[in-house]
Amino acid sequence: MGEQPDRYDYAGAQVPGPLTAEMAARQLERRRAQKAQRKQREKEEREEKQQQAQEQEEKRHFAALSEREKRALAAEKRLAAQLLDSGGTLTNTRRCWLCGETLLGRIPFHYLDFSFCSTRCLQAHRRGRAALP
Ligand SMILES: [Zn+2]
Repeated sequence: MGEQPDRYDYAGAQVPGPLTAEMAARQLERRRAQKAQRKQREKEEREEKQQQAQEQEEKRHFAALSEREKRALAAEKRLAAQLLDSGGTLTNTRRCWLCGETLLGRIPFHYLDFSFCSTRCLQAHRRGRAALP
């Protein structure tokens, strides 16, 4: 409309007024800013939803744990904190009495003072002791 004022029936098409280059540039800039804002908002919403989903999953997972598993988890957190305090070495990590597998992140099986990564190791150890003179 700004460049070709007589070419079309602008009034009939209800075009509000001529669009100058400056106006067009401003409009484009505004649209870009709005788009960027919308994108940012969508990103934040997505992240928030993801966090909520993660929290729900953790909550559900924790609630589904047995008493034993919850206790093991708590003990493990204390151990992890201790490890962090002592410089992060794993030398004090509890290990399976039989195969030496780390018990960090596992729910150990106990009998007497021994801890094992699996019932297989526990039973093998128990059998070994029974076989002793
Ligand atoms: Zn083991």
